[in-house]
Amino acid sequence: MTKLYGLNDTVVPNQDGLFGEFGGKIGHPALAAAMQEIEDGFRAMIADENFLKEIEALQLHYVGRPSPIYHARRLSEHLGGAQIYLKREDLNHTGSHKINHCLGEVLLAKRLGKKKVIAETGAGQHGVALATASALLGLECEIHMGVVDIAKEHPNVSRMKILGATLVPVSRGAGTLKEAVDSAFESYLNQLDDSMFAIGSVVGPAPYPEMVGYFQSIVGHEARRQFSELTGGLPDVVTACVGGGSNALGLFNAFLDDDTVRKVGVEPAGEGLDSHHRHAATLTLGVKGEIQGFKCYVLLDENGEPAPVHSIASGLDYPGVGPQHSYLKDSGQVEYQSATDQECLDAFMLLSRMEGIIPALESSHAVAFAIREAKKLGKDQKILVNLSGRGDKDLDFVLSQIDV
Ligand SMILES: *Cc1c(COP(=O)(O)O)cnc(C)c1O
Repeated sequence: MTKLYGLNDTVVPNQDGLFGEFGGKIGHPALAAAMQEIEDGFRAMIADENFLKEIEALQLHYVGRPSPIYHARRLSEHLGGAQIYLKREDLNHTGSHKINHCLGEVLLAKRLGKKKVIAETGAGQHGVALATASALLGLECEIHMGVVDIAKEHPNVSRMKILGATLVPVSRGAGTLKEAVDSAFESYLNQLDDSMFAIGSVVGPAPYPEMVGYFQSIVGHEARRQFSELTGGLPDVVTACVGGGSNALGLFNAFLDDDTVRKVGVEPAGEGLDSHHRHAATLTLGVKGEIQGFKCYVLLDENGEPAPVHSIASGLDYPGVGPQHSYLKDSGQVEYQSATDQECLDAFMLLSRMEGIIPALESSHAVAFAIREAKKLGKDQKILVNLSGRGDKDLDFVLSQIDV
């Protein structure tokens, strides 16, 4: 049987939920007990053949996996350098990679006898994917979302409502992703027995970074096999955008033992790395610190609190990042670069016009890096981009930014 799931040893935490010095378990006693229940349930579930059969069948018949790898010939020719390939997570049901971990999380909640899943969402992609998996598997779904994001991501808000989720608008602070996480955790504390928290990326306390990473590992296992079938070898570079880091970890995981393959995570440089709080380039400019119950690189303000951040892509504007990525940066196994809002918009338009593929603004950061890098490399070199989602949610916003 071909392997679909499983993490490389270097991105599995120790008993304390640590990847090197990063990550960690939650201290709060009631929450600690809830986290342990989830961790034990997760370990039992992934050792259960019936579960693996169930999720594989859903991935095949419901999500539409495996998502294809596509050689972007016209774009590559236009750039005159390396060949660009896309892992088409945008073609998944619900339009992004997030359905991969949402199916896993909702299956786990059901297995634990919970009635409801609770989560935060940024761009609304995690909320939509979780509301979808909840509708499919018959659970209630409560989604916390910043009011700024609600205004920006209207179609996803409508989708969540139609799918039957309860939407909780969060207006405190900057009204974006970080505040939504805090609000969702507070609500969870009041309903620990009946519900399960379902984080939307490889962030938060243990077991979430490992668990979400595990469910996303299907992307890399598929991609590695598909790429060698298609080209007879491995890519020279694999790249993905990094918000919390789940789509990037999902892809990179399968290539961590391949020293010949460069792994490059791309962070949002927003209005520039030298701007004041107008970027979210956590691994590029952050320091080691704590956010929401785990240790990672983090962007701090003048008072040592998590800083306000900005990206043109709502799904990337978070001042922390997954502990695995913090670890992989320090170990040198993965490189982290960034792309600005403008580079991202240019990449969004170029991919749309050259290939008829409209990428999500989040994914456009990885496309922007690939465009920059392809020009420096020879025509025999190959770059594999994780196209984490489609741009349907971003159309009006992009049209408000540029004349077409
Ligand atoms: C949420 C989202 C991201 C960012 O999340 P990661 O955990 O960093 O992958 C990237 N792309 C799309 C399309 C998203 O919806």
